[in-house]
Amino acid sequence: NKKIVIVGGVGGGASAAARARRLDESAEITMYEKGPNVSFSNCSLPYHLSGLIPDADSIVMKTPEQFHKQYNINAEVNSEVIDVDAQQKTVQVKDVNTGEIRTSAYDELVLSPGANPIMPKSIKGIDKSNVFSVRNVVDIKALQAYLTDNQVSDVAVIGGGFIGLEVVENIAQTGKKLTLVEAADHVLGTIDDDFAQLVHKNLYDNGVQVILNDGLAEISDQHITLTSGKEIKAQAVVMAIGVSPDTTLAKNAGCRIGVTGGIEVNQQFETSIPDIYAVGDAIEVTNMITRQKTRLALAFPAQMEARDAVDHMYGRPVQNQGVIGSQVIHLFDLNVASTGLTEAACKQNGFDHRSVTVIPQNRVGVMPDTSPIFLKLVFSYPGGEVLGAQAIGKSGVDKQIDVIATMISMHGNISNLTHLELAYSPWFSTAKNAVNIAALVAENILNGEYQQVSISKVRGLVESGAFIIDAREPNEYAAGHITTSINIPLSQFRQRLDEIPTDKPVYIHCQSSQRSYNMVRALNNLGYTNVTNISGSFLELKQYE
Ligand code: FAD
Repeated sequence: NKKIVIVGGVGGGASAAARARRLDESAEITMYEKGPNVSFSNCSLPYHLSGLIPDADSIVMKTPEQFHKQYNINAEVNSEVIDVDAQQKTVQVKDVNTGEIRTSAYDELVLSPGANPIMPKSIKGIDKSNVFSVRNVVDIKALQAYLTDNQVSDVAVIGGGFIGLEVVENIAQTGKKLTLVEAADHVLGTIDDDFAQLVHKNLYDNGVQVILNDGLAEISDQHITLTSGKEIKAQAVVMAIGVSPDTTLAKNAGCRIGVTGGIEVNQQFETSIPDIYAVGDAIEVTNMITRQKTRLALAFPAQMEARDAVDHMYGRPVQNQGVIGSQVIHLFDLNVASTGLTEAACKQNGFDHRSVTVIPQNRVGVMPDTSPIFLKLVFSYPGGEVLGAQAIGKSGVDKQIDVIATMISMHGNISNLTHLELAYSPWFSTAKNAVNIAALVAENILNGEYQQVSISKVRGLVESGAFIIDAREPNEYAAGHITTSINIPLSQFRQRLDEIPTDKPVYIHCQSSQRSYNMVRALNNLGYTNVTNISGSFLELKQYE
């Protein structure tokens, strides 16, 4: 009987154990977990802070007893694997409560120890009792208890990644005053700067103070001090500046560590040491598009890597093709989703690319509760290969992102998206889905049918004195506009052609770049040769910083 030992009993670990049992009823499967719980939903942890999940213990999906009864899997909690002897094929396991150490033999070892929240020692006060991170059920209970027991009124969350934002959203709903501190110039590195402005606005609208381009320097009992010297009132601090892969055991066993600091594995998730596999947040993976090594701390990869590793262990063909990084978060009344490469990542990797932003309604306008979907599609130029997408809206923007993620995984092209037949009724979308609309605009760009410039270039245009037309109606213009723009609505421009110069470049924008696009096409047809659409929304301008 094969002896399978698994380190870590959550995302990757529990998946590996369950898969092994499905493939082999006779295997002896032992899963060691140093914490008190196995198989909990890490991703649901923040929702305890708002009370959406009132009972933190309900986040634990399966107890060790259930693992034993239902699957004949030994799930040993409070059991930390402290050493691996790759020659003898044994691990040393410490009972976290008693300190007792025992040895356990394996035929196959799967490492899924996850990652540790980054808590830089250079930050003064980082070890104080009012500083928290969110990684497991113990953490979330401790944070929640501190917030309620100490009448905390002000909380600082450090780091604007998805965990930081989810913590912000859930604590803010309890009426506390939240400050989010982000060292970069925008939150969520998975979306571009222009789209992040919509997220910033959403945070401001919900009463969250957002501080960008600043870091945490010192933590005191009642406030934090930032590297800029700014002081922020906060009686509790949540650190969410990222995670570092837990490679202690892997190093200990002699496994090679990759260039990104994660455990090096091959396409079958074998480490450099025979019969030791590694999966999940602890490993280094390959980006499917750039072919660069990267790390991706998400649940789907962890679970699939675990399944693939066990399949390979049992002789099934496995050839992992890498990751594209699809994700979605819920933030107050917005959903923010992304997949593949951002424009920033394209630039970093030297990919010649273009992007289009469209802002159609989520369903037919006469239906109740329609709302705009902001969708950016990134594609290679001039080839037109689909590289990435970002979507923000009140509706389920994951549909758009999942469709595009599928296309990226299949190395699809813009032309595959233009005519992709998707499910439609007025309840669910517009007849041409936002995905089709974005692809049709992209096709126009690839065919050189008209010129466009990104909304992020507006500041430069204003500074250079460019001629900018605002194609919205006068009441919209009156409510706020680009300072140097001239209001010539789409509904009036045919009567006001004499105001539009022919001897210099003309830039046109509106709320969603659709009216401006129509004006550009009309002017082109009227013989104007230097007219450019400003792609994106007026709402993405940094008016809220
Ligand atoms: P984990 O699930 O963290 O499991 C590792 C386990 O190994 C830990 O319990 C640890 O105690 C144990 N361990 C470590 N060392 C040892 C040792 N030596 N001996 C014994 N046990 C050990 N992903 C998404 O895709 N979508 C989301 O919405 C999402 N939300 C998240 C929200 C939060 C708050 C967090 C923390 C994560 C979220 N994730 C999300 C990420 C996702 O949960 C992880 O990518 C996934 O759980 C990784 O699985 P893993 O097995 O590598 O690590």
